[in-house]
Amino acid sequence: LFVPDPLAAGMAVEVEGPQAHYLSRVMRVAPGGAVVLCDNTTGEWVAEVTEVGKRGVSLTVRERLRERENVPDFWLCAALLKKPNFDLVLEKATELGVRRIQPVITRRCVADKLNEERARTIVTEAAEQCARTALPDVAEPLRLEALLKAWPEERTLFFADENGGAPIKEAFAIHNAPAALLVGPEGGFDDAERAAVRNHPQARAISLGPRILRAETAVIAGCASWMAMAGD
Ligand code: SAM
Repeated sequence: LFVPDPLAAGMAVEVEGPQAHYLSRVMRVAPGGAVVLCDNTTGEWVAEVTEVGKRGVSLTVRERLRERENVPDFWLCAALLKKPNFDLVLEKATELGVRRIQPVITRRCVADKLNEERARTIVTEAAEQCARTALPDVAEPLRLEALLKAWPEERTLFFADENGGAPIKEAFAIHNAPAALLVGPEGGFDDAERAAVRNHPQARAISLGPRILRAETAVIAGCASWMAMAGD
């Protein structure tokens, strides 16, 4: 479980609300039982259940199991999609180990805002399911123009362009600097957006193959390729 405060051996932790419900009703923990806690800063710890009450579950932190992970410095910049599809993007990008998820608003986006509370819940549940010891950052949505304007010069922006680009095996293999993948919305990028990205000094157009993938498929294909070739 991810808990908000940094953990240390011997520390008492009170888990309440949905997490307490999950521990007591789903996991049916009892005093003496062990629970794995993550604090997104020091790493993963085992904690002993000391009490299961109506309001919450009390635990004492025992020992650290794993240091906080050091995932590849890879960001996903994904155009906002219709809710269930963007939920999938958040979940799969978390499982695939991205360090940061930057929602992007482009002219053809059907959705133009993100429920950040809900996004954080999806990302946290995905991180717990795949046993990550850190949560990816979920940034506030940015318009594409603003993203390009503020783009950090040391980071390559691999632009998944369905109109064509460098093959991934070429583009990703030689790359060991900070990187990011940009994926468009259901309707793709318009010509002006495509030109703006292609003219950006840090951008490199890449192809995800000869077929037109759904945006969420492109996210999974791009992130999985990165993790396989240059990342984890
Ligand atoms: N413009 C597309 C069309 O003609 O139907 C629709 C966009 S596609 C559904 C969504 C996004 O996935 C694209 O903007 C692109 O970022 C990415 N994508 C899909 N297939 C791709 C491919 N073969 N190579 C690179 N990117 C791709």
